[in-house]
Amino acid sequence: MSTATPQKFEFQAEIAQLLDIVTHSLYTEKEIFVRELVSNASDALEKFRHTSLTEKEVFDADAKPAINLTTDDKAKTLTISDTGVGMTRAELIENLGTIAHSGSKAFLKALGEGGQKNANLIGQFGVGFYSAFMVAKSVKVYSRSWRTGEPGHVWTSDGSGSYEIEEAADLSRGSKIVLELKDECTEFATEGRIKEILERYSAFVSFPVNLNGTHINTVTALWLRSKHEIKDEEYTEFYKFQAHAYEDPMLRLHFSADAPLAINALLFVPQENTERYGFARLEPSVSLYCRKVLIDAAPKDLLPEWLRFLKGVVDSEDLPLNISRETMQDKALLDKLGKVITKRFLKFLDEEATQRPESYVKFYAQFGLFLKEGAALDHAHKDQLVKLLRFESSLTDKTKATSLADYVSRMGADQKEIYYLVGANRATIESGPYLEGFKARNLEVLFCYEPVDEYVMNNVREFDGKKLTAADHGDVKLSDLPKPEGALSEDDTKKLTNWLKETLGERVGEVKASDRLVDSPALAINADKFMSAHMRRMMKAMNKDGADTPSKVNLEINPRSAVMKRLFETHTASPEKARLVAEQILDNALISAGMLEDATPMVARLYKLLESV
Ligand code: ADP
Ligand code: MG
Repeated sequence: MSTATPQKFEFQAEIAQLLDIVTHSLYTEKEIFVRELVSNASDALEKFRHTSLTEKEVFDADAKPAINLTTDDKAKTLTISDTGVGMTRAELIENLGTIAHSGSKAFLKALGEGGQKNANLIGQFGVGFYSAFMVAKSVKVYSRSWRTGEPGHVWTSDGSGSYEIEEAADLSRGSKIVLELKDECTEFATEGRIKEILERYSAFVSFPVNLNGTHINTVTALWLRSKHEIKDEEYTEFYKFQAHAYEDPMLRLHFSADAPLAINALLFVPQENTERYGFARLEPSVSLYCRKVLIDAAPKDLLPEWLRFLKGVVDSEDLPLNISRETMQDKALLDKLGKVITKRFLKFLDEEATQRPESYVKFYAQFGLFLKEGAALDHAHKDQLVKLLRFESSLTDKTKATSLADYVSRMGADQKEIYYLVGANRATIESGPYLEGFKARNLEVLFCYEPVDEYVMNNVREFDGKKLTAADHGDVKLSDLPKPEGALSEDDTKKLTNWLKETLGERVGEVKASDRLVDSPALAINADKFMSAHMRRMMKAMNKDGADTPSKVNLEINPRSAVMKRLFETHTASPEKARLVAEQILDNALISAGMLEDATPMVARLYKLLESV
């Protein structure tokens, strides 16, 4: 088929769905489409600048880099054109008609999960182009690629399921997007309205922006200016433009350094951690500049992985413009740059934590997981990161958290280790049997509620020379407490533990008297050195190998508990009933430990026990 005649295409199903959402449910802040289209034009110009550095032959080599907007309030149109890379026919189909473009998929997923509230995540997910359909009843994209020998095309759609592509004569390089505005959106065909929108952020666009022939922006790199002369609103507008964000940033750090590298950096922490809600994994997005010239909008290995939530820019005049990660020298330079920035950001967080604890708590609630990830995996920054971690504990009030340093400051002279317990929430941990022995001895225990905590604690291993120890671990040794009146004698306890081991057989490893119990009759200790009960539960949930080998369990009993004293009497007097009680005690202990795998035998046994009451 000749490409000279118009050809009709259906949008991919997902795009059609996306367009439906964009045109019918996104009513707030319609004006953002201007920012999205200008930012696409700017991206295209940036791409062309890069391309022209390496390609010998480019079409329209002399076209000046610029973004031109024209309004026509009679025709009710707005036109945005650029002299960027442009698109070939195949690229028009690929970029504007298919989901291959990954942002769209993530966006749909996010909308599905987050509902209306997140409808304004549109730009963040790289589906900015489609925002044109919020205001336009028809969109035409005239485009001609930088590649020589490629004709120009016009892409047309009304956003309702299909689009058309047709060859177009006499186009120069770049793209021109013509919006035929909906009747209720004609304000965007007036110069005043567009000017007002552009003025807020066009200074951040590093190419000339013209409106109806008048140049309106002077390029100022905000990050190079002195922070004393920058207004909060300027920072916020910059953040929104640069990070495609719709809310103010949560935190901001603007700093410069001269040694060991000349750096100007402007970093932002967003309001929300979208990964927390199960959205797509964040991609690093702090842009790298050298003297205002963009080198890489999203350098992969500038900053450590756990800082992937950061937005903003880093500018260093010590970088070569043609920096390449392939050359060792440049890689070393990038590493060094990354280290300086990471260190500075960690210091900033530390200051937040001490000087503005409320702000830090808010930050930690969203982004604490990233700090944990770093503490566990990034050896270079582990020490500073561990200091920033916060946990509730047996001594804090509910929802108040403590740092490890504060924990250590409260430790008694003879306490050698830092204790923690992993559980779903405070109530679960407090009602379990593991805490009471520590409470009775005034030992503080950290409460860990996140599934990753156990992994983090295992990797961090120690703080300030003190080992991090799970309070439900088999090796924990606690000091003697004065024996209360009426406990079973050591002899009787020995007899009882031997009998229990014999009676419970394969179901338990060791049975012994416990030093961590005060009120509860017994507790189960996971005796598997390699897999904690918590980890086993997670592996089971994920259907991982190894989770269904029987767990190794030790039973610790409390010689002071009435249940044990009674059991000691019955185990000789009525051995059959005592056996049922012993089995039930073990099951109860397993339930508290979250290790009971099959509760069915327990039900029958309980009925038997009830019969004998
Ligand atoms: P994003 O900009 O995040 O990639 P968009 O939905 O805004 O997502 O744009 C989709 C794609 O369409 C871009 O990645 C780009 O390849 C292409 N595109 C959009 N506008 C232009 C333009 N003005 N010039 C060249 N390509 C463009
Ligand atoms: Mg875009």
